[in-house]
Amino acid sequence: MKRIKFLVLILVAMISTVTHAQQNKKYVLVIHGGAGTILKKNMTPEKEAAYTAALTEAMKAGYNVIQSGGSSLDAVEAAIHVLEDCPLFNAGKGAVFTHDGRNELDAAIMNGKTLEAGAVAGVTTIKNPISAARAVMEKSQHVMMVGKGAEKFAKEVGITIVDTSYFWTKERWDGLQKALKEDSAKAVLDHNDKKAVNKLGSQNPDYKFGTVGCVALDKAGNLAAGTSTGGMTNKKYGRVGDSPIIGAGTYCDNNTAGISGTGWGEFYIRTVAGKTISDLMEYKGLSVEKAAQTVMDKIGKLGGDGGLIALDRNGNIAMPFNTEGMYRGAVTADGKIEVKIYK
Ligand code: ASP
Repeated sequence: MKRIKFLVLILVAMISTVTHAQQNKKYVLVIHGGAGTILKKNMTPEKEAAYTAALTEAMKAGYNVIQSGGSSLDAVEAAIHVLEDCPLFNAGKGAVFTHDGRNELDAAIMNGKTLEAGAVAGVTTIKNPISAARAVMEKSQHVMMVGKGAEKFAKEVGITIVDTSYFWTKERWDGLQKALKEDSAKAVLDHNDKKAVNKLGSQNPDYKFGTVGCVALDKAGNLAAGTSTGGMTNKKYGRVGDSPIIGAGTYCDNNTAGISGTGWGEFYIRTVAGKTISDLMEYKGLSVEKAAQTVMDKIGKLGGDGGLIALDRNGNIAMPFNTEGMYRGAVTADGKIEVKIYK
């Protein structure tokens, strides 16, 4: 009997050591490439490998910055550049089309040390919207610029401008055509009939969200967060989602965490998702995991779907989502890269 008790004790000690070690893993960078109806059965091994490679490349780019003593802002920008330039993701090249057949891009970045933030929305000619968002933060007196004005500003400060055709990809164009067909029956963003919308969402892989985001923690202990997106397929007339809205899809505070969301943006705006997570941590003392899950649950209850990533100043992460999958990954302080796609 004594022997059994002793063995059980040893076992419990071993399990708690393992759990403890996992909990104590310190992360310095976390990214997402969108959440949605991502099912293993719909994925080819080639596609899965391509996503994994792109996410890994982005994390390496960000991690290299941190490793060499660079700032979390530089790391976030570097990681997001890789994803914006990759047509697999709904950001930069690969952005989805609006109802009118345009690519209108949104992005935001935030400095956790100073609470400075920058964002652009509805831009159509800026190759890397995350850099334009950063320029708004660092080179203007403003937080957000939209449309033609944002493009004019970006050009003035030397951000790369491209022809709108740069963003055209066949996959996204076909996705729009499909959405338009279905739209004549029921609009994607018709919030009056959520069931129909959800059904469409699960039928058409192009309605899945593919926004990209990154949160990083540098050696100086500063957090930064950024998000970049083409928004939602078939979005109507100047619609702006949560990604460029500071406090909704993007938020960062050294005292709490950096957050980047992905999903049905309207719900992230209405729940002020990013800032609420930060507030739950700051004023209620919740851990980053609890706070992130609390907000994700609320989004789900309201009928929204998606996911988010969060990283706190101690290197703890949370990556909750209520969709079938979320392209996501994280890097530990010692450079170990983890990539996950499904639940
Ligand atoms: N949240 C984005 C939006 O609503 C979409 C996405 O995450 O892919 O604009």
